Amino acid sequence: MAVEAQAVHAVTLDGTDGRRSDMNAHPPIPLVDLSLQHRRIAEDVEVVLRDVMANAEFVLGSRVERFEREFATYCGARHAVGVGNGTDAVEIALRSVGVGRGDEVILPANTFVATAEAVVRCGATPVLVDCDEDFLIDPALVGERLTSRTRAVIPVHLYGQMARVEAVREAVGAEVAIVEDAAQAQGAERFGRRAGSLGDVAATSFYPGKNLGAYGDAGAVLTDSDAAAESIRAFRNHGGVRKHEHVQIGVNSRLDGIQAAVLSIKLSLLDAWNKERQSAAVRYQELLAENEQIALPAVTEGNEHVWHLYVVRVPNRDRAVSDLNTHGIGAGIHYPTPVHLLPAFSVLGCREGDFPVAERLSKEILSLPIFPGITEEQQDAVAAALRLELSGQ
Ligand SMILES: *Cc1c(COP(=O)(O)O)cnc(C)c1O
Repeated sequence: MAVEAQAVHAVTLDGTDGRRSDMNAHPPIPLVDLSLQHRRIAEDVEVVLRDVMANAEFVLGSRVERFEREFATYCGARHAVGVGNGTDAVEIALRSVGVGRGDEVILPANTFVATAEAVVRCGATPVLVDCDEDFLIDPALVGERLTSRTRAVIPVHLYGQMARVEAVREAVGAEVAIVEDAAQAQGAERFGRRAGSLGDVAATSFYPGKNLGAYGDAGAVLTDSDAAAESIRAFRNHGGVRKHEHVQIGVNSRLDGIQAAVLSIKLSLLDAWNKERQSAAVRYQELLAENEQIALPAVTEGNEHVWHLYVVRVPNRDRAVSDLNTHGIGAGIHYPTPVHLLPAFSVLGCREGDFPVAERLSKEILSLPIFPGITEEQQDAVAAALRLELSGQ
């Protein structure tokens, strides 16, 4: 979501180019409808925002503390520490388990660029591995890339379902830290345990388009360790334990009161909203199953999928996306280029062919609109347009 929505704000959050084709019988269908989400909670939001403003608790404060407690409880972790955004959350989570200069961190090649960026910002080297057909990091390959310098591995819970964290643990042993990237999986479960509760530490993002999204940038780090939580709290706030008492060199990456207030409201609705995503996923399955050209997303055994994105695979993907966009359907690609082929990561010295599964999937994947409140009519229109597109190829 992030790459599209970030780049595409001006182009509209619906992921379309804003033009309406005369051929569509339906209004534009966005990839994610954030204004609908706001309309559902607008009155509650206005009340709490007025309260935050009246109390002038703009950065950290009681609303932040309250949301941190609520979110930790929800995820099944002892502590949640609110930070400025999800990228910072990954970086701070990595630092909290000691990742620094000279270390290696293993992560999947098919993730949003932020996961790899955070590793580099710690001074460490990203070591990429391929994913499986279910888009999740391949635990067997993780074991092959272990060296004496491996400090951590980041299972990314991509598209709304959790990576096989227990298999990753088995592959790396007890000495290597597991840092969950749970940015796309708020509320997802694996064998009954929530995203954010399985690793040594976890990071998440509340970017507006995520399943639990703020009204601006926000993120959180989750940990069961009291000592790590205290150190993370200091680090996000200039390394201070109390005002003017700076015990380490930190950063300024704090959660705002306004964001926390909105997040508390949305957290109380997250399960219901994730259920709506699940119903929408079932419906897409029914609408598209018979078309042999479309490969539908599967749920990996043990997982409760929360459908941050609904990613199908189709032939002639680029044409399909652009035709759907022209017809007012906010289809997207997450992500068109695996990390190792991005110019920013050419320093890693990887080449095309290094991660064949991630590369092949990146050319076939297509994200269809999915969000709480998507209507049957909208899904019908998306399915019809996709079927029509593929029949014309
Ligand atoms: C969104 C996202 C991030 C980064 O979060 P921001 O809040 O946008 O900085 C990191 N990892 C993954 C997998 C994401 O989807």
